[in-house]
Amino acid sequence: MLHHGSCLCGEVHYETGELSEHIDHCHCSYCQKFHGAAYGSYAGIINPDSFRWIKGEERVHRYQSSSHSARLFCASCGSSLVAEIDGGKMLAVTLGTLDDDPGVKSAAHIFVKSKASWCEIGEGEEKYEEYPPNMTQFTPSD
Ligand SMILES: [Zn+2]
Ligand SMILES: [Zn+2]
Repeated sequence: MLHHGSCLCGEVHYETGELSEHIDHCHCSYCQKFHGAAYGSYAGIINPDSFRWIKGEERVHRYQSSSHSARLFCASCGSSLVAEIDGGKMLAVTLGTLDDDPGVKSAAHIFVKSKASWCEIGEGEEKYEEYPPNMTQFTPSD
């Protein structure tokens, strides 16, 4: 199943194949700054080759936020669109830019060690100090 997403100004549109049904809300300091929010929400793309820009690729800028991860965003409106890990071997879309339902079944809060003091995580929610024990690949942290 294909999913579609776009930025705030509408100049950039993308299409992607199947997404992970498990998502991460990342509270690392990079995500806070980049999204201007308490955390960034991501779904991994199962097959990174299924991703393509369908409009406005020339407006997409790339910010290398660490040695192994980069963030792709719209240069016109600033929307954070995709996180790229290890030069694109792994990709994750930002859930806020999806225009359809990703079919999420579970979610975890990660990197809560750097969580903003003004952000509360509910009692029963899954959370980890840093990476979750079983999964690191879709997390654009550090
Ligand atoms: Zn835009
Ligand atoms: Zn993060």
